[in-house]
Amino acid sequence: MYNCDTKNNKDSCEMVRKARERTQQARNRYVSRSPQAKALQRILDAFGTENDENNVSIAFGVIDNKGSHAQPSYNENAGILVKFDPIALQRDFGGNRIELAATFTHEGQHIVDEISQQRDPITNEESFHTEWSAYISQSYINQAFNTLSPYGVWDPSWPALKANKHRTWTAAEVATCDVYDCEP
Ligand SMILES: [Zn+2]
Repeated sequence: MYNCDTKNNKDSCEMVRKARERTQQARNRYVSRSPQAKALQRILDAFGTENDENNVSIAFGVIDNKGSHAQPSYNENAGILVKFDPIALQRDFGGNRIELAATFTHEGQHIVDEISQQRDPITNEESFHTEWSAYISQSYINQAFNTLSPYGVWDPSWPALKANKHRTWTAAEVATCDVYDCEP
């Protein structure tokens, strides 16, 4: 499981623990063979649980001047570090537990990808792909709880037959903007 400094970051570690719980709840809403359950389970397994001494560490602090919520990084020796910005999260999501779980899940997909690649993405194409799958995975949280994603990657009003297509497109759109910096 992940390492979190509960001594110095009690509240922030608690936020991550709750986001993990909510992700587990979302996973339980899907049948095990579904792509949603499989992706969320992989993410929960990759994160591990609080202080289980695996190679995932959680840190807190400002990430960039764009107000990013979280960022993963891979280190051959130290493992994977995921940094969350509790102030940016609070500013944008307040007490919205679903979006905190969606952020947790997004970062969790990055962990899954970094474990399999054994490094951070290098090319824009790799970055695009990892962002795309992270947005797809976070949409599973919104889908489980029937909420509109502020990123547009899930909308409960989408017609059932087209929902997956919409999800794929919007995830590609947001991932493109993340990687190539398009202005709204
Ligand atoms: Zn990302």
